[in-house]
Amino acid sequence: MKEYVTICEVGPRDGLQMAKSIMTTEAKCAWIAGLAAAGLREIEVGSFVPARLIPQMADTDAVVRFTRTIPGLTVVALAPNLRGAQAAVAAGAHRVSVPVSVSEGHSRANLNRSPDEQVTVVSVIVEWMRDNAPGTELEVACSTAFGCSIDGVVAEHDVVRIAAALAEAGVSQIGLADTVGYANPAQIKSVVRAVRAEIGPALVGLHLHDTMGLGLANALAGLEAGIRDFDSALAGLGGCPFAPGASGNIVTEDLVFMLESMGFSTGVDLGGLMAARALLHEGLPHEAMHGQLAKAGIPRTFQQAI
Ligand code: ZN
Repeated sequence: MKEYVTICEVGPRDGLQMAKSIMTTEAKCAWIAGLAAAGLREIEVGSFVPARLIPQMADTDAVVRFTRTIPGLTVVALAPNLRGAQAAVAAGAHRVSVPVSVSEGHSRANLNRSPDEQVTVVSVIVEWMRDNAPGTELEVACSTAFGCSIDGVVAEHDVVRIAAALAEAGVSQIGLADTVGYANPAQIKSVVRAVRAEIGPALVGLHLHDTMGLGLANALAGLEAGIRDFDSALAGLGGCPFAPGASGNIVTEDLVFMLESMGFSTGVDLGGLMAARALLHEGLPHEAMHGQLAKAGIPRTFQQAI
């Protein structure tokens, strides 16, 4: 048995929020169905934020309701506050993902709250979900955990402090996000080890961006530090409207290629991802698509880990 690595596809959420044109609900659902058909078992399909802030996410309710009918798929929806979490649960999301920025500047720009105030929001969501949605998972992503384009350096002890406060509030799935893509591999290992020393197995995954071209190197560093759960986006879409300078997520196709070539099983089929790229292009014909694998083609030497 090969060791398994879980990939959560975040293109329909992180990827689309910066897209220049609006993808129709129909095209979005067809694309997500294509991603699931390629073997992705976790997909973040949208976010419950006001449509005036991120018009791309206005149809998240409908998208969640459709995608939860796809067999075997864990439907993840982002919610910045209690009202968003309630909407995600009402629509039938299997997992609610709540962001907590480690840096003050990004927290204020993205959520209009300090990091500590957002931790308090999370503890309210934890209690509400405990009583009202015991079957729904809650995950918190610590944004700007490796640097911030507004505040600059983010201290490791601040990441540890926020992660500890979240664990204390009862969150059992905590991820670290390089929201702006400033991390380097040594830093990834150092922060992962420091956070794990504080909260143990509650640290589940990494969310990486490829701003500086270090995305896969950072994923490898995370892998070596024991992380087995990564977010990525098909065609490397992505960015954050409240984090100037951030560019796309690590590319799902390239990540799958790296992991499978190394002997890790992802359950994801590269040919299926290429078909999903075509669906994405159909739905958003003017959006730039990234990725080395799509450019080079699947090498004849490639073997899927089984
Ligand atoms: Zn992101």
